Amino acid sequence: MAKKLEGKVAVVTGASKGIGAGIAKALAAEGASIIVNYASSKEGADKVVTEIINAGGKAFAVQGDVSKQADITNLFSQTKSIYGQLDILVNNAGVFEFSPIEQVDEAHFHKQFNLNVLGLLLTIKEALPLFGENGGSIINISSSVTTLTPPNSSVYTATKGAVDALTGVLAKELGARKIRVNAINPGLIATEGAHAGGFTEGDTKTWVESTAPLGRIGQVDDIAPSAVYLASEDSKYLTGETINISGGMR
Ligand code: NAP
Repeated sequence: MAKKLEGKVAVVTGASKGIGAGIAKALAAEGASIIVNYASSKEGADKVVTEIINAGGKAFAVQGDVSKQADITNLFSQTKSIYGQLDILVNNAGVFEFSPIEQVDEAHFHKQFNLNVLGLLLTIKEALPLFGENGGSIINISSSVTTLTPPNSSVYTATKGAVDALTGVLAKELGARKIRVNAINPGLIATEGAHAGGFTEGDTKTWVESTAPLGRIGQVDDIAPSAVYLASEDSKYLTGETINISGGMR
């Protein structure tokens, strides 16, 4: 069977581990050539690139902190010189930190908003000139917290609420250029970041297992196939949507 993304080029931000790494590998398995962006984990990014190449795909790692304009500019100039085009952008890089309102401060706010919202907007802006006349697909990784609104998550949930909102706005702005803009809103997913934050054990895990209709936390391979769907022609009449993938938690 023909691969769904043959001839396409995808940039996946924050693809050295977790959900981004899973999406990069899934897009590559369908034939897309990948830029594996990372901030600090060169080893992780190189491992993802090697796995893709060993499976018969094409990938390059490009370092860049996508909360910083200069790094974002460099990411897309590298993409242009390596592949000459862009068809799929997955805005996955993100940080998540929970804090009760009493402990919210400027540093907590800016760390999350600078990457999750400002970085995402600047990344889309810099990516746009690389999309061709056939348009393409932008996939923003949001979170199911935007509808669950869990306590102690005010800043993080606000960043992802902004991502949902700007997904709708940019779908309208970019539709005429055949660029579709959608969001995936994962529930709790077992990733390096979720583990490091203590979310995959204890109260949070128990809450998800007892509340989610499917009775378990998610895995990266629960998310990646939906990114392939949103990147491909299978979703060609879909834009401005948020797809909740949370085992039914809402
Ligand atoms: P993760 O395991 O912590 O991985 C984060 C990735 O983002 C890493 O590749 C990291 O690269 C990269 N990154 C961090 N800061 C960056 C920056 N400034 N510039 C470029 N890359 C950067 O995270 P995850 O759990 O897979 O989460 C990925 C996305 O899904 C985030 O947007 C998160 O909010 C969202 N999400 C996660 C969950 C969950 O339960 N895991 C649920 C809902 C939504 P380095 O390793 O090089 O730093």
